[in-house]
Amino acid sequence: MREQGRPLWAEIDLDALEHNLRQVRGRIGPGSQIMAVVKANGYGHGAVAVARSSLQAGATHLGVACVDEGMQLRRAEITAPVVVLGYVPPWEAAQVVQHQLIPSVTTRETALALAKASSHTGARVPVHLKVDTGMARLGLAPGEVEDFVRFLDTLPTLQLQGLYTHFAAADEADKSYTYQQFRAFLAVAERLPRPLLRHVANSAAVADLPEMALEMVRPGIALYGCLAGSSGSHGLALRPVLVLKSRVARVHTLSPGESVSYGRTWIADKPTKIALVPCGYADGLPRLLSNRGAVLIRGQQAPIVGRVCMDMHMADVTHIPEVAIHDEVVIIGRQGEAEITAGDVGELAGTISYEILCGISARVPRLYMREGQVVGRRTLVDTNPVV
Ligand SMILES: *Cc1c(COP(=O)(O)O)cnc(C)c1O
Repeated sequence: MREQGRPLWAEIDLDALEHNLRQVRGRIGPGSQIMAVVKANGYGHGAVAVARSSLQAGATHLGVACVDEGMQLRRAEITAPVVVLGYVPPWEAAQVVQHQLIPSVTTRETALALAKASSHTGARVPVHLKVDTGMARLGLAPGEVEDFVRFLDTLPTLQLQGLYTHFAAADEADKSYTYQQFRAFLAVAERLPRPLLRHVANSAAVADLPEMALEMVRPGIALYGCLAGSSGSHGLALRPVLVLKSRVARVHTLSPGESVSYGRTWIADKPTKIALVPCGYADGLPRLLSNRGAVLIRGQQAPIVGRVCMDMHMADVTHIPEVAIHDEVVIIGRQGEAEITAGDVGELAGTISYEILCGISARVPRLYMREGQVVGRRTLVDTNPVV
């Protein structure tokens, strides 16, 4: 038994992460670089540990969503190129320059602010230009790019290094929209006066359309082993990286007619054994799982009964013999023959694995594992990042 700390924790298997990165490498071949996307605290796994592990396994770049996430990596003394994939407002230009981040540039205002912030540094700021080819989210319209590049060329402290776009439907069986976006992107790139570092492929594109790898790919969810339909159907044999575990905090028996949790939404119709699990919606277990879904105890499914509370929930263990306090509970992951994936939890909550993973909150301790051994841990109060 792990007799340390909170009886709720996430185990992050760094061997699995590195395996997944090598799967990506195998799929795209040696000719493209890999930007490991570590935004949203490394999809809930812990950005710093995931970043270090990815770089060790062959990623050359890191992708984050916002400047603060980039600064967090720099504070951990990670020196690899960090691309900010989200909107960078002009007022964050000084932070970008100071921390040597690579901003996505999509407006003249931000480009001018970056030029100003870097005018006294003597170094040029590499920037990546984001093109909106059909996501209708962030980016310049394809028709705006040529003019914008001419404008950037008037700013001597900026160096246009990359050009990229993001796919809207690469994970769907019908790839026609993705091909359309890809063609639109290539047409823009061809109209520019010089070759740039081009990157378009998210995890789904790496898996299904590796011919779109270009100079660099940007996998996120595949690194964490939760790409939908990832059982090798698309040539990536991925392993889930995160397991969310807890320990039973109480076992008690209800008589018929007794109810469980807020609102009394579940009432025992026979003598019922209930296990208390100290994991609630503030830890990332969706409240939508109230009276739905299950956890694993002694290798068996134990249905969640009553409303999920902020800090704990209850499971029906009537059918599981000998359940005892401190038994291990698996909320996401495998236990014996049984498995609940982040995607399964997502489906029950009407969402996707991504939202479940990045919803695992900061108060859940992260234990970093190699070869089954804990090699680092990060909790709310104690950050001794061994990894
Ligand atoms: C989040 C993100 C990715 C990674 O997407 P996955 O589906 O997790 O592989 C890639 N590129 C951009 C621009 C993103 O925002």
